[in-house]
Amino acid sequence: MLDQVLIKEFGKRIRQLHTGRSLSQEQLAELTGFHRTYIGMIERGEYNKIVDTLTKEKRSWLMSRIGSKNTTPELIVRSLVHRLGFRFRLHYKRLPGKPDLAFPGRKKVIFVHGCFWHGHEGCTKGRLPRSNLREWQTKIFKNRVRDKENLLQLKEDGWDALVIWQCELKDIETLIKRILIFFR
Ligand SMILES: [Zn+2]
Repeated sequence: MLDQVLIKEFGKRIRQLHTGRSLSQEQLAELTGFHRTYIGMIERGEYNKIVDTLTKEKRSWLMSRIGSKNTTPELIVRSLVHRLGFRFRLHYKRLPGKPDLAFPGRKKVIFVHGCFWHGHEGCTKGRLPRSNLREWQTKIFKNRVRDKENLLQLKEDGWDALVIWQCELKDIETLIKRILIFFR
């Protein structure tokens, strides 16, 4: 039997993915490791009908891989930057790519990138599902191109950008150093 709290959280993520990125049920099934028929049930909140074939660890890993807006990595970075004494604006819409954290007075921005969605090269969290590989490659490639364009545009407009990858959160001390150097 699946942990009900876990699956509720998971359902929320799936709904976010559905609305935010227009994924088909097949794609969602593939990403989440759930059978396709379960995706609809999760979306409708019928958690008690779900039988999860994955272990709790594998399930947590999948969830971390498909994180979206306001998920843990971004929250961790926010509180970290806040504790370091820097004040910021969230999801600054006026700038290319709507940076997750913006520091208008300093003309600096920070992006927190999920390794999967933004295609972190050489990173295990960025690994694509094996089936429909072509389709995923196209999708993630587009995200990467867009990210690059946004960074270029920001640079042209005189903004400094720092990209923090989700996997960098494993080593907070190094991350803090990176952030402090960025603000120096
Ligand atoms: Zn990564």
